[in-house]
Amino acid sequence: MEAPVFDYIEEHEEFRDHIATVDQKGKRLWIYPKKTTGKFTSARSAVSWLLLAFLFLVPFIKVNGEPLLLFNIIERRFILFGINFAPQDFHLFVLAMLTLIVFIILFTVVYGRLFCGWVCPQTIFMEGVFRKIEYLIEGDANAQRKLNNGPLTGTKVFKKVLKQGLFFAVAVLVSNTFLAYIIGADQVLQIVSEPVSQNMGGFVAMIAFSFAFYFVFSYLREQVCVTICPYGRLQGVLLDRNSIVIHYDFVRGEPRGKVRKAGALRAP
Ligand code: SF4
Repeated sequence: MEAPVFDYIEEHEEFRDHIATVDQKGKRLWIYPKKTTGKFTSARSAVSWLLLAFLFLVPFIKVNGEPLLLFNIIERRFILFGINFAPQDFHLFVLAMLTLIVFIILFTVVYGRLFCGWVCPQTIFMEGVFRKIEYLIEGDANAQRKLNNGPLTGTKVFKKVLKQGLFFAVAVLVSNTFLAYIIGADQVLQIVSEPVSQNMGGFVAMIAFSFAFYFVFSYLREQVCVTICPYGRLQGVLLDRNSIVIHYDFVRGEPRGKVRKAGALRAP
């Protein structure tokens, strides 16, 4: 690329000055991602299904009468692949966390956002479950935009109620599953089957978890990555020009405007 064009873009660029999902008044711009197809989309879907199956099945797998994985913070009981860990083993946890952090940093420097795109629970649930439900009920990006901007009709109400209902049902299922990792599947089944008055604490936790999940995936969505997730916030310092990332190509994308013929990027 010609140096003057590069200089021009760097001098006039605005796209780095603000978040793409917020307008100049600070109001959120809702994202309507287009459905994607292709071999990478299929591969990502396959990975999602595999991880979701793992997540939902593990609480029911027992080794020698103990759960395969348990993170019972309340009773300070931790089980990893059938092995019991006590609070006295906390130094092992610290070492494992330090190793993990170093690994994540090195991995990110080389492979960019591979974790974000393929295995992060936020992505798996958003793209692999909630977005799929949305596409199924409301259609692709343009149909969704049209529906949201259109008048309030019977069809719109039906689609919105159906979508939000399914979202909440999935949120309840996911929150129960996560709870099973903390207190064990047997206890969760007990809470679900017994009268609410006998397990008020567990019931309140389940409802709170469900609403939190529902809020994250029906409303917060990509804002988790942009504003909340520490790993997302760190990307700016972890990536360099040699990292493998799918990124916004400002050379092709800036200055914004109508698509021009190939090679038509010119500084005025
Ligand atoms: S930025 Fe954080 S929440 Fe978002 S996909 Fe990456 S790891 Fe997950």
